[in-house]
Amino acid sequence: MLNGKTAIVTGSTSGIGLGIARELAAQGAGILLNGFGEANDIAALRTTLAQEYGVPVDYHGADMRDPEQIAAMVAHAETTFGSADILVNNAGIQHVAPVASFPRERWDAVIAINLSSTFFATQAVLPGMHKRGWGRIINIASAHGLVASANKSAYVAAKHGVVGLTKVVALETAQTGITCNAICPGWVLTPLVQKQIDAIAARDGITEAAARAALLGEKQPSGAFVTPEQLGQVAVFLCSAAADQIRGAALPVDGGWTAQ
Ligand code: NAD
Repeated sequence: MLNGKTAIVTGSTSGIGLGIARELAAQGAGILLNGFGEANDIAALRTTLAQEYGVPVDYHGADMRDPEQIAAMVAHAETTFGSADILVNNAGIQHVAPVASFPRERWDAVIAINLSSTFFATQAVLPGMHKRGWGRIINIASAHGLVASANKSAYVAAKHGVVGLTKVVALETAQTGITCNAICPGWVLTPLVQKQIDAIAARDGITEAAARAALLGEKQPSGAFVTPEQLGQVAVFLCSAAADQIRGAALPVDGGWTAQ
C-alpha cells in the first residue's frame, strides 16, 4: 500500500516508534529511523528491517531538542529517498514530579522533545508535501493529550499542545492531500513506562507484576497494555485512502481510559 513512499519516524529506535516503523515498512514504505541508542544496535536494526521488508532503511541521529538538527533530518530524508511523504512525530520523554518541585531543566526538555519538535518537523516537511500534493503527519500524543494525571505537568501540557497543534495543521492543510492527525495511546509497555512501573514497585515495596497491575488498574479499564504493533496498524490506516477525510482527529487507543 505504501510502496514508493518514505516515512520519517522520530524516536524509532525503541518502543512505539519502532513498532510504527515496522508496520509502515511492512506496507512497503522506506524508513528513516531516528532516536538514541548504541551505533551497533541501530546498524543491526537497519539491516533487520531492510531484509525483513525489502525496503530502504536509513538513520538520522537528530536530537529532537534542536530545530536545526530536525531540519537537517528532513533534508536528509528528501535527499536520500527523494521525498518525505509520511512524518510520524513520536519521540518523547516523561518526568514525574509535583509542580512545586518540578525541575526547570526537565520542564524545558519535555516541552522541547514532546511538543516543539513536532512543530519544527511539521514545518520542515510541509513544503515538500505541498509540492507533491500528498502527505501524512501523524502525531503520537497520549491519553494525557485529552485528560490529566497528577505529577505530570510538563507531559500533560506538551501532549495537550500536540493535540491543539494537530488541529491547526489539519485546518491549514484541509483543502490539500495532506492530513494531520494525533493518536492518543493509553499505557503501552515500553522502556518509558517500565521506568514508572519500577518506581511504583520501589515506592510501595511491591513486586513488578503487582506494580504493573496497579498502573493498569488505576487508569486503563481493559486491564491490558496497548501494543506498538496495534499503534503501527492504526498509523497504517491513517495513511490509507479510507482516512483521506480524517483531519485533525485525536484518536484514543487507550483500553477505555478516556471513556471514563
Ligand atoms: P521509549 O522511551 O521506548 O522511546 C522513546 C524514543 O524517543 C526512543 O527511540 C528515544 O531514543 C527517542 N528520544 C528520546 N529523546 C530524544 C531526543 N532528544 N531526540 C531524538 N530522539 C529521542 O518511549 P515510548 O513509550 O515508545 O514513547 C513513544 C511516544 O509515545 C512518546 O511520545 C510518548 O509520550 C508516547 N506515549 C507513550 C505511551 C506509553 O504508555 N508508553 C503512552 C502514550 C503516549
